[in-house]
Amino acid sequence: MGLGERLSKVFGSSQESKTPVNPTKVENSENKTKTEEKLVADKITIGHVHMSGCSGCVVSIADTFEGLFTLLDNYADLVYCLTLADVRDIPKMDVALVEGSVCINDHHSIEDIRKTRENATIVVALGGCASYGNITRFCRGGQWNQPGHEAFVPIGDLINVDVYLPGCAPTPEAIRNVCVMAYLLLKGNDDQKALATKYLEPLMKLPTLGTEACGCDLMTKIINHGLCMGCGTCCASCPVRAITMQSGKPNIERDMCIKCGACYTACPRSFISLELTAQFETILGAIDGAMNP
Ligand code: SF4
Ligand code: SF4
Repeated sequence: MGLGERLSKVFGSSQESKTPVNPTKVENSENKTKTEEKLVADKITIGHVHMSGCSGCVVSIADTFEGLFTLLDNYADLVYCLTLADVRDIPKMDVALVEGSVCINDHHSIEDIRKTRENATIVVALGGCASYGNITRFCRGGQWNQPGHEAFVPIGDLINVDVYLPGCAPTPEAIRNVCVMAYLLLKGNDDQKALATKYLEPLMKLPTLGTEACGCDLMTKIINHGLCMGCGTCCASCPVRAITMQSGKPNIERDMCIKCGACYTACPRSFISLELTAQFETILGAIDGAMNP
């Protein structure tokens, strides 16, 4: 079942007339002309901008396998990506997925992040380094591959960011979902835009909460407020296993924390709105339909 059908089910039959349609004339085997209705009005343009990071996020993009091909076939053109597309200068694009923090000692990096903001309609901080600095916060210099003392800051310290997608790395599904929702937000009808806004709203709220994250956020914002229900999601999301469950509650080894922000973002008692939780099956159904057109 395609996206249109699923959304018709979700929003009622009036959906059909509202779905963006790009009729394409195709010839059938008997040379008769028939109209094929494409559910996609036209594609959005997406770029992957690599600042200072380990490339784990771009690996996560590629890890969607056939999902990536479905996205590129139906919804998005990849117009910039040093790893996957042969384009040198940062072009105009609808969505920029920015991986990594910015080295403030490197003027090329500063220029690139400013240009990204100028050229992109939506800037997504992809992963813990772009959102919160993550392990690059600990860079002190003196290592073989890092002899100079250089400083790295999350992109939100230099430019306005629209969406945070924390995680080290964010899951392939989370990246895919954000791409589909960005498509619906920019190209969809009113119902689709409303659905996409609901999904993206909590992630759009994260940049307003600051550019620092730590495992201690669980302590100060969740556990100390009596909100923790002991589900263990934070523990499962920590990339360095700095969290263990003790007596039914998370215990954070602060010395091990690399400040990626994944645990607070994953916690169901953190910033996720109850309205979104109630609609989650609908949203996942729409994404499922989009990925199986
Ligand atoms: S405790 Fe783990 S998941 Fe949480 S911010 Fe630290 S490293 Fe990231
Ligand atoms: S994810 Fe949140 S609610 Fe679940 S154990 Fe961790 S702090 Fe508690």
